[in-house]
Amino acid sequence: VKTEGKGSFRFFESRFFEAIRTRLETEMELRRALDQHQFVVHYQPRVNLAAGTASSMEALVRWERPGKGLTGPDRFIGLAEETGLIVRLGEQVLDSVCAQLATWAREGVALVPVSVNVSPLQFSQSDILALFRSASARHGIDPALLEIEVTESSMMQEGIGSVAVFRQLRELGIKLCIDDFGTGYSSLSQLQKLRFDVLKIDRAFVLRIEHPEGDTLIASMIAMAHALGMRVVAEGVENRRQMQMLRTLGCDEGQGYFFSRPVPAGARQPVGEREFQP
Ligand code: C2E
Ligand code: CA
Ligand code: CA
Ligand code: CA
Repeated sequence: VKTEGKGSFRFFESRFFEAIRTRLETEMELRRALDQHQFVVHYQPRVNLAAGTASSMEALVRWERPGKGLTGPDRFIGLAEETGLIVRLGEQVLDSVCAQLATWAREGVALVPVSVNVSPLQFSQSDILALFRSASARHGIDPALLEIEVTESSMMQEGIGSVAVFRQLRELGIKLCIDDFGTGYSSLSQLQKLRFDVLKIDRAFVLRIEHPEGDTLIASMIAMAHALGMRVVAEGVENRRQMQMLRTLGCDEGQGYFFSRPVPAGARQPVGEREFQP
């Protein structure tokens, strides 16, 4: 029994060091990726459910790893946050978004606002206001073309719930969205105090919309959001039935594979075009 225990300890030990090594390697790779600008931004439209046209887009980062193809954010955002590299990553994403908006403007493409995911660490460890101001100025774009998404669960972290910063961002014309709503524990008073413009209902609720009570839950979120003056976006809309139910419930906008997957900037659909048949 004793030798067995020792053996399993060695096994555990080697797995433990292996995990640390992989982590260190990925962290080094992540640093190199930032130095070499290996991150690309894909765009997913948010569709106005009444009009059937794209009202804005969400910027979603991907890592173009040499020889390894595209890696999704779920594989590296966590480590980027733990290592603090998320601040530089966030700067590169915003710079890329502003550059793209400037390119579209030059090409005469109709512009819609782009929403950018912002980590709570960017609020606590960098000057978000200065970042958004300088990035938009550098590329000569109107900051009102930018929106910020913060997740509901990050609202509990320090630094994010600053009324003053939110007000200054809003003065620049930047809209604020609360992301993944329903998965965190924000209070009504917080929502009211920070005056979010947009509430995004998490995909998990849209998945259950056809289950008993699923629609009542969404209906009450929509009622609450509207009462607080927010527009409501449903995330993860994958089929027509979900889209139709959401529209019936009074949801303003939808986002999901039913309309479009996130696509590279070049593959973007013209805004004026009807993107789906209601
Ligand atoms: P999120 O902000 O909730 O973004 C929505 C995610 O759902 C995206 O995953 C999107 O591709 C996916 N999605 C969209 N429509 C559908 C659908 O109909 N069905 C399903 N199953 N999924 C759908 P993605 O691109 O893998 O991003 C994952 C998360 O990574 C994002 O969740 C966001 O929290 C984070 N993220 C992405 N880009 C950035 C960034 O630039 N900065 C930071 N801090 N986080 C980012
Ligand atoms: Ca988001
Ligand atoms: Ca979300
Ligand atoms: Ca999410």
